[in-house]
Amino acid sequence: MPSFALHGIGVSGGIAIGRAQLVSHATLEVAHYAIPSGRVESEIARLDNALSEVRSELEGLHGAMRAGDAPAEFGAFLDVHALILSDPTLSEAPKKIIAEQRCNAEWALTQQMNVLVEQFEEIEDPYLRERKTDVVQVVERILKRLLGKPGVVGPAGVEQHTILVAHDLSPADVIQFKTHRYAGFITDVGGVTSHTAIVARSLAVPAVAATHNGRTLIRENELMILDGTNHVVIVNPDKAVLAEYRLKQGELELERAKLRRLKPKPATTLDGHAVALEANIELPGDLDQALDNGAMGIGLFRSEFLFLNREGLPSEDEQFEAYRSVAAGMEGKPVTIRTFDLGADKQKEGLDGLARVAPNPALGLRAVRFCLAEPRLFLTQLRAILRASHYGRVKILVPMLASVSEIDQTLALIAQAKETLREQGVPFDSGIEVGGMIEIPAAVLAISAFLAKLDFLSIGTNDLIQYTLAVDRSDDAVSHLYDPLHPAVLKLIAMAMMGAAKARVPIAVCGEMAGEPQLTRLLLGLGLRNFSMHPAHLLTVKQRVLTSDVGASKPIVDRMRRSDDAAKLVALLDRLNA
Ligand code: PEP
Ligand code: MG
Repeated sequence: MPSFALHGIGVSGGIAIGRAQLVSHATLEVAHYAIPSGRVESEIARLDNALSEVRSELEGLHGAMRAGDAPAEFGAFLDVHALILSDPTLSEAPKKIIAEQRCNAEWALTQQMNVLVEQFEEIEDPYLRERKTDVVQVVERILKRLLGKPGVVGPAGVEQHTILVAHDLSPADVIQFKTHRYAGFITDVGGVTSHTAIVARSLAVPAVAATHNGRTLIRENELMILDGTNHVVIVNPDKAVLAEYRLKQGELELERAKLRRLKPKPATTLDGHAVALEANIELPGDLDQALDNGAMGIGLFRSEFLFLNREGLPSEDEQFEAYRSVAAGMEGKPVTIRTFDLGADKQKEGLDGLARVAPNPALGLRAVRFCLAEPRLFLTQLRAILRASHYGRVKILVPMLASVSEIDQTLALIAQAKETLREQGVPFDSGIEVGGMIEIPAAVLAISAFLAKLDFLSIGTNDLIQYTLAVDRSDDAVSHLYDPLHPAVLKLIAMAMMGAAKARVPIAVCGEMAGEPQLTRLLLGLGLRNFSMHPAHLLTVKQRVLTSDVGASKPIVDRMRRSDDAAKLVALLDRLNA
């Protein structure tokens, strides 16, 4: 098999070596061809074979699940799939189509799938209507067998040496992979700070996005090296290349082991500045990784992930339990819960306000705008967070604020949520801190209202860069323009830092810039003392903090703050990191 390389954007560093598993959608990629009448029986037998293989595959998964600690829903989902598989509308009807239309089994199966999906779409009950997704997933499994490919979700352990190859993955797709242990990810599209990339990073596996045609060029089961640090994927590597990468992988392991020794050390610079290094998490299950890497708090809990990959909305009690478990798990260390940031690339089906396709989703009804448009939903979340504040040190963080009226409305709703709890005698931290994310240039340019009304600020550099440079963070066609070192971005960060320092309001950075060791000294020089990042980066950034001298870097950082010359900024950053 020929060896070839694909270049993309390394969205999560490190090296993975494994076999390709293609993520596909059944409705794409199915060929249609006629078969001679003499082959009808063998075509039906081929389908029968695939059906019984999938039956055994599902039984095998059930067995593996009982032996492991997979969530209970996984069992229920396998039962539904087994039922669908044995239903004659799926197992028998396509055989009739093969015989009548003399077509290949794949085609017959997808034709029948389309009929079933249409029938499901007519059902009024939303739960039953959604079962069409299960039909599609079962058909996908059968198709993979027909095409000589194994199923997508394997029993635990199999994934360890598997690299997922997809055209695109939504943040909701990727979060589902948290329950598996894939070696890495490759996608055809996506930018560095797209939410998909951020979640991929949170899985602490190497990932390369924007390979453009990886999904079409790579075949199932091909051996691959994924080098997320150098933005490259090598398919079918020869022995020498493979040996070299195995060596590099070993070196990286060693590096990681050395970093682990920094865990108990306090993060203090050479000239004595104490720095808080906190973690960004998406789900309560991420807490272990945060603690394991010495997180001093949770600087950003992206609560919207509780809303994805599920039927309906999480109830107040369900949200409370999620927030309480994180608050209690951090044992008095701060837990900053961001109120949900749905909209743009994190869509939730069934919410009226988000139902239409916005002409420009990143500028549309997203985050706090959506919350203020749906105050009942917002109040439910605020009550759940407030209730959790009784069990730890919880703070509320509000995303995408642009104007004073949004701050006022949010504070009024928080007061209302507190009042209802008081009336019911439910305990909560009445002095809970409320902070705002600085993600829109307008918030920096008119920061005094933010400083006057909020207890703390947190700069979301991912969005701040997107909105300052007018570069869609999820669009790889413009990802070359996405530049954290752009003079305008640095000036805005510096302005926010100075404003906060003057008003003595605590300020953090929780965007991806905080987890980028190349930028640690720059941010320290701008005055930052609170970094929140993905847990996997905590020890690398700590290593950087331990070897930084803020006083010594100050003159270079001051020059960077004033410069409008992009090339000079790069040179100055090199000097800072030398
Ligand atoms: C940001 O915008 O920098 C941020 C931290 O929030 P998110 O990435 O979830 O939009
Ligand atoms: Mg943001």
